[in-house]
Amino acid sequence: MEMDYQINLRIDIPEPTLKAISQAYVQLLPLLLSDFFKAVIHTFAEHFLRLVKKPFCCERCGNDEEFIWKTREGKPTGLLTIFGLVHLAQLQVKCKRCGHKMYITRKLLGVEPKVKVPRETVGKLALLGALASFRVAQKIVGMFGWVLDRMTIWRSVQRVGKEIRFEVDEKELAMGQADGTGIPIRGIRKRGKELKVFVQLKRTGGIRIAGLAIGNYEGEWEKLFEPLLEGLRKFKQFFLVTDGDTNILNALGERVKVVFQRCLWHIPHQFKWYLWKDGVKRKSQPWIYALAELLDICAIRSYVDDEKVIRQMVRRKEQRHSELIGYCLQQGWKHCATYLENAASDMFTGLLNRMHGKTVSLVERVMRTVNMRINVGKWSVEGALNAVKIRLAYYYNGFDPCLEQRA
Ligand SMILES: [Zn+2]
Repeated sequence: MEMDYQINLRIDIPEPTLKAISQAYVQLLPLLLSDFFKAVIHTFAEHFLRLVKKPFCCERCGNDEEFIWKTREGKPTGLLTIFGLVHLAQLQVKCKRCGHKMYITRKLLGVEPKVKVPRETVGKLALLGALASFRVAQKIVGMFGWVLDRMTIWRSVQRVGKEIRFEVDEKELAMGQADGTGIPIRGIRKRGKELKVFVQLKRTGGIRIAGLAIGNYEGEWEKLFEPLLEGLRKFKQFFLVTDGDTNILNALGERVKVVFQRCLWHIPHQFKWYLWKDGVKRKSQPWIYALAELLDICAIRSYVDDEKVIRQMVRRKEQRHSELIGYCLQQGWKHCATYLENAASDMFTGLLNRMHGKTVSLVERVMRTVNMRINVGKWSVEGALNAVKIRLAYYYNGFDPCLEQRA
C-alpha cells in the first residue's frame, strides 16, 4: 500500500557539524521507529476496517466482516526489532455480532501475543551473535542508538543454533573431510573438548558443512557420524579424508563403502610432535632431513591423470616412506617410526582413486572460522555448539536470517 508519512518532531542541535547532526540523528531514531510502526499499522487498520471482508476474524464467533473501532490507543505493547524496541498503543476493535473486544495490532504485525522478541528479530540477533562476540555485537548495535542486552543475543543464538541440523547432501560429491579442533569449555582445563567438523565437497567447488559435534579429544566421533549414517548409506562409495576415529563408519553396511585417506596436511604436522617426543633436536640436520623427506612424500601433484604414471608415483612414494621409517629406526626414533607405519596404509588412497587435490585439509579453514569466534571467552558445550552451528551454516551452507524474509 502506498501511503504518506509525515513526522513532526522538535529537535535541538547545537551546531551544524557532522558529529552533532549524527548524534541528534541517533537520538531521533527510537522516536522515529515507534512512530513509523504506528503510522503504518494505523493506515492499514483503517483500510482493513473499511473492507467488507477483514483479513482477521473474531476470536469468539469467527465473524470476519462486521467490526467497529473500540480504541486506537489501547494497552501498550513492546516488541524488539533489529532497530531497537518499538512501543505501540494497541488497536482494539469490537465484533458487532457478539460484542467481543480484541486487539489487532499483533495480528497485523504477524507476531504472537506477548512475544517480546519476535522470531524475525531472533534470527538476526542470532546471526549477529554468531559472527561477533556478544560484547562487539552490543557495541555495534549501540552505535545505532539502542542498548542491546547481551542475554538477549545469547538466548537468540541458542534458540536458532538448536534448530540447525546438518546432513550429507546426496546431490553433492561423495567426498568429505573430518577433523577436530580444541575449544575452550568452562570448568575444563584449557583444551578439554574438541569440536568435530565434517565437511562435504560440492560439485561446484568449495565445501558445505555436513556434520558437527562436540566431544572428548580424539574420541566420541560417533556423536558426529551417528546422525549421518542414513544419509551416507545413499552413496555407493564415500571418500573420506580424516585423522579422526572412524570405527563407526566401518559398520555402515554393505551398500556404502567408505574409502579412507589420511589427511596429508596433518601427517608432517603431527610428525613434528613425534620428533619432539623422541627427543630429536629441532632444526638439527636429522630433524630437517626427516621432515623435508616426509613433506615431499606427502606433496601430491594434482594434475597427473595417467593411471600408470599415478601407480608408479605411488610406488616411489611408498618406497621412500618405508626408507624414512628405516631411517627413524636407525636413529632410534621409536615414536616417529610407529607413527609413520600406522599412517602408511591410507596415505595414497586418494591419489590411487584419482581424487585429485582432495587430500589436503579443507577443514583447516573452517577451523579458523570457528576459532575466531569461539576463542572469545569460555563456553558451555551446548552454548559453543549452537554458536558454531550458526556461524558455519552462515559461511558454508547459505544460511542467512537476513535474507530469509525476502525469499
Ligand atoms: Zn464475534
